[in-house]
Amino acid sequence: MYDFVVVGCGFFGAVFAYEVKKAGKKVLVIEKRDHIGGNCFSYNHPGTGVNVHRYGPHIFHTSSEKIWKYINSFAGFNNYRHRVLTTAAGKVYSLPINLATINKFYNLTLSPDEAGEFLKSRIPVIPSPQNLEEKAISLIGRELYEVFIKGYTIKQWDCDPRELPAEVITRLPVRTTYNDIYYDDDYQGMPIGGYTPIFEKLLKDVPVELKTDFFEKRDYWKSLAKMLVYTGPIDRYFNYCYGKLRWRSCRFEIEKMQLNDYQGVGIMNYADREVPHTRIVEPKHFYRERTDLSQGTVVVREYPCDDQTEPYYPVRLKTDQEMLAKYQKAESQEREVIFGGRLAEYKYYNMDQVIFRALEQVGKLLKQNASK
Ligand code: UDP
Repeated sequence: MYDFVVVGCGFFGAVFAYEVKKAGKKVLVIEKRDHIGGNCFSYNHPGTGVNVHRYGPHIFHTSSEKIWKYINSFAGFNNYRHRVLTTAAGKVYSLPINLATINKFYNLTLSPDEAGEFLKSRIPVIPSPQNLEEKAISLIGRELYEVFIKGYTIKQWDCDPRELPAEVITRLPVRTTYNDIYYDDDYQGMPIGGYTPIFEKLLKDVPVELKTDFFEKRDYWKSLAKMLVYTGPIDRYFNYCYGKLRWRSCRFEIEKMQLNDYQGVGIMNYADREVPHTRIVEPKHFYRERTDLSQGTVVVREYPCDDQTEPYYPVRLKTDQEMLAKYQKAESQEREVIFGGRLAEYKYYNMDQVIFRALEQVGKLLKQNASK
């Protein structure tokens, strides 16, 4: 009998397993895929040696000193600062929207104060923005929204931006300075050697069964555990009894090129709706310390798509939120199950938030156990 059987070994499952193992508990991890790390899985691309994040780029960023120290105990980090450009209507602009973007787009030479006033003059009064479109327009005005946000968002989410939650857009700062670092967080970087070694360390002393689908023998796995930790999609756990939550997935097209540098930046977004990919990732740029990589580069084009078997992004339309509330109610009846992570909580979490949640859950549990 295990104290915990953990379903899935992305950050939530792996951190949870590591921490309970450290506390002397018996834990087993099962994982449907043939590798650990969930969507953070990375590998060295054969032929070029470039470290590729198989399920899209993961840039570590956090404002929590505690989480930064924690993750640094499993990996050294380089000092990569994420910079993103976007190609829109035949021109390349800086992101997130900053003074360089504004001045180039309007062909002006505004100072920060002038840009603030200028933006204000172009923003209509929207007293309480209710959705992504209203929120974006309330921050940058309709013109910038139409060019940089609308098309990209429709491609990414395959729905009207007026149906999406406003918070999706507040992931991106808007600045009237020339600061073009994508994230505002105090701590940022890429783990040297990629993400997979972090998971190898987290799971070093934990048995992991790969290629093992929980749903093929769910009663069996439950019978092995005093407590189940489930990190898969919440709707799947309850056999979609209240319906299917909307998830967005992504198809990745990878290409090796006989060039030293394809695009001069880690990520180039494509804002135009007519361009089928949302972005091109050139992972070589994430790891400047890899001076050994002179032969060729790798680029990955991202095509958002619907694929129920590979849920990446919770879409969170109003109907989803209502359905989620029902699943959450059902979840609260499952006393011997912990639900955690992006898929099980149906939240658009970043990695640091997932690690935080896993540590919080373990802390709570161990405290409860100690007081028994
Ligand atoms: N977004 C956009 N244009 C861009 C970049 C982002 O409209 O060039 C919007 C889009 O709706 C996207 C959201 O902002 O889904 C969040 O972007 P982020 O870069 O955080 O997405 P992620 O890296 O999680 O895919």
